[in-house]
Amino acid sequence: MNTYGRFPIELVRGRGVWLWDSQGKRYLDGVAGIAVCTLGHSSPVMRRALSRQLRKLQHVSNLYRIPEQEQLAAWITANSCTDKVFFCNSGAEANEAAIKLARKHGHVVRGIDGSAERGPLILTAQASFHGRTLAAVSATGQPKYHQGFEPMVHGFRHFPYNDTAAFEALLRECEAEGPRVAAVLLEPLQGEGGVNPGDPAFFRRVRELCDQHNILLIFDEVQVGVGRTGCLWGYQKLGVEPDAITLAKGLGGGMPIGALCVKAKADLLQPGEHASTFGGNPLACRAALTVAEELSRRNLPAHVAAMGELLQQQLAALAARHPSLAEGARGWGLLQGLVLRSDGPAAIDVVKAAMAERLLLVPAGTNVVRFVPPLTIKRRHIREAIKRLEKALLACQAQTPSAT
Ligand SMILES: *Cc1c(COP(=O)(O)O)cnc(C)c1O
Repeated sequence: MNTYGRFPIELVRGRGVWLWDSQGKRYLDGVAGIAVCTLGHSSPVMRRALSRQLRKLQHVSNLYRIPEQEQLAAWITANSCTDKVFFCNSGAEANEAAIKLARKHGHVVRGIDGSAERGPLILTAQASFHGRTLAAVSATGQPKYHQGFEPMVHGFRHFPYNDTAAFEALLRECEAEGPRVAAVLLEPLQGEGGVNPGDPAFFRRVRELCDQHNILLIFDEVQVGVGRTGCLWGYQKLGVEPDAITLAKGLGGGMPIGALCVKAKADLLQPGEHASTFGGNPLACRAALTVAEELSRRNLPAHVAAMGELLQQQLAALAARHPSLAEGARGWGLLQGLVLRSDGPAAIDVVKAAMAERLLLVPAGTNVVRFVPPLTIKRRHIREAIKRLEKALLACQAQTPSAT
């Protein structure tokens, strides 16, 4: 179907941070399948681990115990603030599970009645991104993603991200006639919405108010989780522990897997209340276990922090060299954005020009160019990426602004 506005290149092979198209052209990959290919392309450890797993067992139902799934849950819970895990296949699905959990918390723990008028509410941020399934897109605070698919799922209210006063006002309004809010769902850093890092003071206040009202605080870590920020989890950048986190993108390093991870107090779903046929199958869990092992064996979070610092500093310097095009850089770890001037080129035009220089990048909103490379990227690749991006920026400057 015509769901994607695709670029005309056809990628057929990858190795580390490099990709080749069907014409043999080589690209430096700053996208990594949008923050997915944690260990780079075709990593030898991943190839070995998955081949071995395929020779053993590929898929069995969640009707039975799955040791790879139990090991992965043990790794996540031992290395995060969470205690229990549900596995699924994508970010949207992880958020769907979180939304169902939030509603159950609203009914069972907060005693909110279930009618459409009085049902539990979930508060989410404007410019957020939570996925494309109907409830996840309803949670998403961007009207452009709702258009044409109304009615949205009931029970979501949006407020400006990082705005403590607006959040307090909305909470007061929703709770005016008794308990009404089941959960607050937030990205620690808004990825798709423009690479906007969360403000620790705002998040601390949200945590405090959620504690006061017994509201679940859920972090969507689909993009920032699993080492991307230089910490294992995005919440560590904020110094605030959520009650639940959702994961997907980088978790499987390229195999589809998602997860809802909860603290013991939010472990509310009973047998039969939620399920996934594919969720947490042995092959997907083996991939995620391999990512987990490599993260600790190679101390990747520390590497990501160092590479992220270099990348941000180089992007800021690039922006300073071209003040008529770019304003600066922002982000955490290896999730960085080059912020373009609103009267400068559009992010999509810079991405296209970078592709001509054989550098792959992805827009985040209309005026931010996003870098989400494999976590294994080296200094020399970052320097090379900046060189190519500078050529792309100059090519954009030479062109008249495009209509798109
Ligand atoms: C990508 C993304 C999603 C959606 O994940 P899918 O696997 O595409 O369903 C949800 N939340 C955030 C923060 C994301 O970046």
